[in-house]
Amino acid sequence: MARSRGSYYSALKRITRVANSGFGLKKTCNSIAKSAARAMQANGCRILSLSSQKEYLITVGTYGLSDLYLKKGPLDARKSLPDILDGKVVYIADAATDDRVQHPQTALSQGISSILGVPVLGKGQAIGEIRIYTREPRQFSEADKSFLLSVADTCAVIFERAELHQLLQKDYRADERRRKASPASPVPTSTLRPTTFAHSSEEDFARLLDFYCIDWLYEPRSFPLRWEGDKLAEMFTPDFYLPELDLYVELTTLRQNLLTEKNRKLRQLRELHPEVNVRLLNKSDFIKLLAKYGYGPLGEAKVEGVDRVLYSHAQIQRRVRTLARRISDDYAGQRLMLIGILKGVVCFMADLMQHLSLPVTLDFMAISYYGRDDEVVEITRDLDTSITGQHVLMVEDIVDTGMTLNYILGHLSAHNPASLSVCTLLDKRARRLVNVPLGYVGFEIPDEFVVGYGLDYKGEYRNLPFIGILHPELIKGESPQ
Ligand code: 5GP
Repeated sequence: MARSRGSYYSALKRITRVANSGFGLKKTCNSIAKSAARAMQANGCRILSLSSQKEYLITVGTYGLSDLYLKKGPLDARKSLPDILDGKVVYIADAATDDRVQHPQTALSQGISSILGVPVLGKGQAIGEIRIYTREPRQFSEADKSFLLSVADTCAVIFERAELHQLLQKDYRADERRRKASPASPVPTSTLRPTTFAHSSEEDFARLLDFYCIDWLYEPRSFPLRWEGDKLAEMFTPDFYLPELDLYVELTTLRQNLLTEKNRKLRQLRELHPEVNVRLLNKSDFIKLLAKYGYGPLGEAKVEGVDRVLYSHAQIQRRVRTLARRISDDYAGQRLMLIGILKGVVCFMADLMQHLSLPVTLDFMAISYYGRDDEVVEITRDLDTSITGQHVLMVEDIVDTGMTLNYILGHLSAHNPASLSVCTLLDKRARRLVNVPLGYVGFEIPDEFVVGYGLDYKGEYRNLPFIGILHPELIKGESPQ
């Protein structure tokens, strides 16, 4: 089982190269976790970052661990191997019986025997950890420990780089709030944003991301597309990079003929750099996105009622019963806590819960709305009861970009539910920006604005017993090309 110095040396070389690759935090840490686990001939690895309040350990990279193990959510920093955060190397011979392990039952069910954990130290303080997991009981050598500590040093640099970026974002948000509070004394432009935008739509998009607490970088990287001889002849620089989602976004407000050229570049980018996750939002996508919050040219448009029915009352009821049957089977023998976000989910929640053959409890949350309330999304009504240790099913009316759900799931998983899954009636997948896991989906719908069965347009239409698409006047009159 002993590893040679040579193989640790090559693994460290690979890890340093990945650390300098310019990939996002998650992708970098996943790749490091894989290299570290393979070099140590271990079955799994997890890289954890300590939350800013030092309460939770958040997974930023993993390899070889099952979803079940990861879905335990963030670890409580005081309960889960706290010695590591005191700067110590911790060795657990048998995870199922050691009371320093926070979830021994899960470790047992996953067949994890031994764990080696080392701190990630930044300026002498623990800012995270790396844990190595093996299925066979394992003793770790001094060389193993020293290798993992070197990997931790590289992670420290990556974490500090990510934190610097977040601090810039936080400074910016604080400045924005101050500026809103006293518009008479504007903050100098240079501190308002770490960047100047080429187009106002980019600034609108950045504000929307800020609202949902999604970090972004503006034009951080250019990708070479074509060479003439050894001279670079064409490059492509996506407008945004969202590090947590490892996603590049290109916004385009160009006319259709120029869009074709942009699409060609994107195709080429995907061929040459298949590892790059990039999404194009064209003008019409973007205007529809803003319209949802009552902004942009469509935000003010007159609506002439519902144009056509997408799903009738009977179709909805049939689908709800099918979903309820699947949920009842999957959670058989357990208690389930249903959580909904007000108000759109009321019809779906009421129907769904009546068909569940399980003991269920119910709770609701409400959140602030982009453009109407705060700068950053806030929970305006929190849960009445604790979800710690409970099986939680988040019930949603519709998932569109996924930004709302992404924020809510982050909030809920920090409270360590026993499990957390999502059931949505409607899935507007074509518009997804954040890949949120959906356990149960009623209908996948086209990119249309729908109302009825709880869903509103400016507060109205919720009482319709069917789901319909608004009159195309809303789209036709102003839809750009
Ligand atoms: P996301 O954060 O996924 O972009 O947006 C989710 C929220 O946007 C939903 O909970 C809902 O309030 C609203 N939404 C998204 N698409 C539609 C739609 O087609 N009709 C209505 N009425 N609301 C929508």
